[in-house]
Amino acid sequence: MVERQLRRRGITDSRVLAAMTRVPRHRFVPPERQWEAYADYPLPIGAGQTISQPYIVALMTAALELTGTEKILEIGTGSGYQTAILAELAREVRTIERITALSLAAQDRLRTWGYANVRFFIGDGTVGLPDEAPFDRIIATGGFPRLPALLLAQLADSGIFVAPVGGRTFQHLLQVRKHGDTFTQADLGGCRFVPLTGKEGW
Ligand code: SAH
Repeated sequence: MVERQLRRRGITDSRVLAAMTRVPRHRFVPPERQWEAYADYPLPIGAGQTISQPYIVALMTAALELTGTEKILEIGTGSGYQTAILAELAREVRTIERITALSLAAQDRLRTWGYANVRFFIGDGTVGLPDEAPFDRIIATGGFPRLPALLLAQLADSGIFVAPVGGRTFQHLLQVRKHGDTFTQADLGGCRFVPLTGKEGW
């Protein structure tokens, strides 16, 4: 997966590649899909949700430009796979999931492997965690109809926000960087994510 799907498509961040080598992706998918856990596509994880394709996980993680000191907010815990990758690469992770069963399953998985730097929340992640702000990085693994003002307000200065923004079935993966009161934006390409529901979602 790392050689054929990630490196070949231009993922060069060695910390990201190492984290994706370490985290056992097959433990994050349903038992009957384990044989295809490392394939080049997303897979269902229950409750109508999906675990993202490995390349998309790598692309989003690389776009966060992590050095190991960051406090991150993740919206859409899902299986917890992206959460585990973030926990490997940053100081602290807060992750929010709206579906209780998915969050509890992800909590079980991550506790089993001893990630002590992750805290789980159940609820509408599109409003963020104002009490815990600011965050050095914010990542959402579901799509927004537009850039979410409430979340961008919780980004630290020089912080980076990475999320799909656009239509219900097709979005652009955006990397938004905060500089004081202004933001700059880079388009990392087209993508298909499940929509986020909630106040700043659909
Ligand atoms: N990163 C996940 C993929 C999750 S798919 C993984 O690696 O498995 C997107 C997730 O966002 C789904 O689990 C969905 O239930 C959740 N979600 C949708 N709207 C949300 C909201 N408003 N707040 C928090 N989570 C939400």
